[in-house]
Amino acid sequence: MDEFELIRCYFAPLSPAQPDVVLGIGDDAALLAPAAGHQLAVTSDTLIAGRHFPVDTAPFDIGWKALAVNLSDLAAMGARARWFTLALTLPDVDRPWLAGFAAGLKALAADADVALVGGDTTRGPLSVTITAIGEVPAGRALRRSGAQPGDRIAVSGTLGDAAAALRQWQRGDAVVDEGQRRLRARLDRPSPRLALGLALRDLAHAAIDLSDGLAADLGHVLDASGVGAAIRAAQLPTSAELLIAEPDADARQRLQLAGGDDYELCLTVPASRWIAAQQAAATLGLSLTDIGEIVQTRGFSVYDGNGAPLRFTDAGYRHFP
Ligand code: ADP
Ligand code: MG
Repeated sequence: MDEFELIRCYFAPLSPAQPDVVLGIGDDAALLAPAAGHQLAVTSDTLIAGRHFPVDTAPFDIGWKALAVNLSDLAAMGARARWFTLALTLPDVDRPWLAGFAAGLKALAADADVALVGGDTTRGPLSVTITAIGEVPAGRALRRSGAQPGDRIAVSGTLGDAAAALRQWQRGDAVVDEGQRRLRARLDRPSPRLALGLALRDLAHAAIDLSDGLAADLGHVLDASGVGAAIRAAQLPTSAELLIAEPDADARQRLQLAGGDDYELCLTVPASRWIAAQQAAATLGLSLTDIGEIVQTRGFSVYDGNGAPLRFTDAGYRHFP
């Protein structure tokens, strides 16, 4: 099977005919027709086997996740996702692997209504690079730099689930019960919060998606905005599965603050728009949790349920000794 047959067989079906794709797969470049008055939001992410996903990850999930992490970036900009390209490096032509990978990619592409418009296929160690392109009305994208003192800090969904699943896998624990399976699904098949990013675009001041852990990612917002954050550890949204997987509160908060791969949105919302933001999330069937507030003093501070400060140590956030 040559490169062109491979593209025709597995990837051309992800490229339905649609008016905003003037020319899709098959020429030297795609021709896209963005909507009038919009700016393009463009983002790339690479997934490398063993680094960005466990080596035993199912091909379906690799396809899903490679697209999901890119769409999550578009969600954080408040952009509508439209198109993507796929640069794929494969060690060999493994048909069952390709069929599974393409199916995972197709499932999320259909869900998110994005079209594959081109790419590149080469031989080498497995690596998947996707570039996703979205649209946003000119001047209205959500940026990292807009947070203001007094803003509520909100996160969608729950935090720490994927980090718990990764730790479980690193420890070599078998996935045996339904709760563990749900945690593993949070690692393997993140749900990019595209609809939420659109719904909150004109309500939030700033946003970022959580790929490297709340402390690191919110830290980028704080740096870009020149502000600080006061986080209430007891309010971090926690799934029932995570409570069972990690009953120790300190260890659990460490997973939630420093673990990665959540792919939830973290937004800062002015207090006057908080109710509207929560209603917008509820309409989409998503939870939006208030975990703290933006403050003038720079830095990332975490407080316990009684308002006492916690300090970050190698073992996680703890009370001052
Ligand atoms: P060129 O040599 O001009 O760069 P290629 O031979 O690499 O073109 O690719 C032929 C066509 O197939 C192009 O339209 C390209 O975008 C598309 N393509 C290549 N690899 C992929 C892929 N993995 N997924 C989707 N489209 C692809
Ligand atoms: Mg090429």
